[in-house]
Amino acid sequence: MSSAQTTGRWAPSPTGDLHLGNLRTALLAWLFARSAGGRFLWRFEDLDGAVRSQFYESQLRDVAALGLDWDGEPVRQSDRLDLFRDAIANLRERDLTYECFCTRREIAEAAAAPHGPSPEGAYPGTCRQLSRVEREQKRASGRPPALRLRAGADGVGPTELTVTDRQFGDYTGIVDDFVLQRGDGTPAYNLAVVVDDAAQGITEVVRGDDLLPSTPRQAHLAGLLGLHAPSYAHVPLVLGPKGRRLAKRDGAVTLRDRLALGESPVDVLNLLLSSLGFERVESVEDLDMVGQHFDPASLPRQPWVYEPPTPSPAAAQG
Ligand code: GLU
Repeated sequence: MSSAQTTGRWAPSPTGDLHLGNLRTALLAWLFARSAGGRFLWRFEDLDGAVRSQFYESQLRDVAALGLDWDGEPVRQSDRLDLFRDAIANLRERDLTYECFCTRREIAEAAAAPHGPSPEGAYPGTCRQLSRVEREQKRASGRPPALRLRAGADGVGPTELTVTDRQFGDYTGIVDDFVLQRGDGTPAYNLAVVVDDAAQGITEVVRGDDLLPSTPRQAHLAGLLGLHAPSYAHVPLVLGPKGRRLAKRDGAVTLRDRLALGESPVDVLNLLLSSLGFERVESVEDLDMVGQHFDPASLPRQPWVYEPPTPSPAAAQG
């Protein structure tokens, strides 16, 4: 493999069956990588407590059923804890971290305090200011602290960073003192994703645009760790009929549901392809041909609003 070769990835959390929105993002991530003649890797982001063992296999099976393939064995973040711990130790040694004892509620209240609301979703830096004595008292209270990144200079608070996204152009977003390690010791998403993308040699991250606001944080962290940040392409999500992010409540939205309605995997693939403005294929093996003509510049910039098929009386009961 030459160092210039594109390497993309798909990084689902095995917490449930993939729905049409997830499958469409997987398809796009695959198309971006394969159309560039690149590698495509699978990583399970399974540090979350909501992981269920059956979904490792079922997610692989569903994505393969649509004709997507990947290189090598899928990796699991839960097998790679040492990598994340090393990165955290590195930041800790450089005094780029601090312990945070705040509850979600305290953060929400502090963010709304009269001395000026924090920018949306940003941690206001409460525990950064704790004196040694206060910190000891909090520790003694028994609440296990999370570990946060000391992102901006002291007293400056959240900063901003601009990243360039292949689909969105320049995007400027907050880099606050985000969590690196949760109170229970689990490495947090933003830390694990940065370390793993670098460790796996990912050159281009393609994922749902709900993660665009996290991207400046991730690019900043990659810089601190001396890692090469990948390029990014965020793709629009799929929305349900009420305009909310697609979810189970929206009906037959998983591959299993669609097969139960009598559809075949190629029908589901064609539904996704048509939502992207591509022509239908005869079989899932024809996906390679779609990859040969794939042009990211022609992708829709708006979310796809999924309209469920008109329910039959039997389906309406479920
Ligand atoms: N694991 C995340 C998810 O399932 C994706 C993270 C990423 O692509 O960076 O939404």
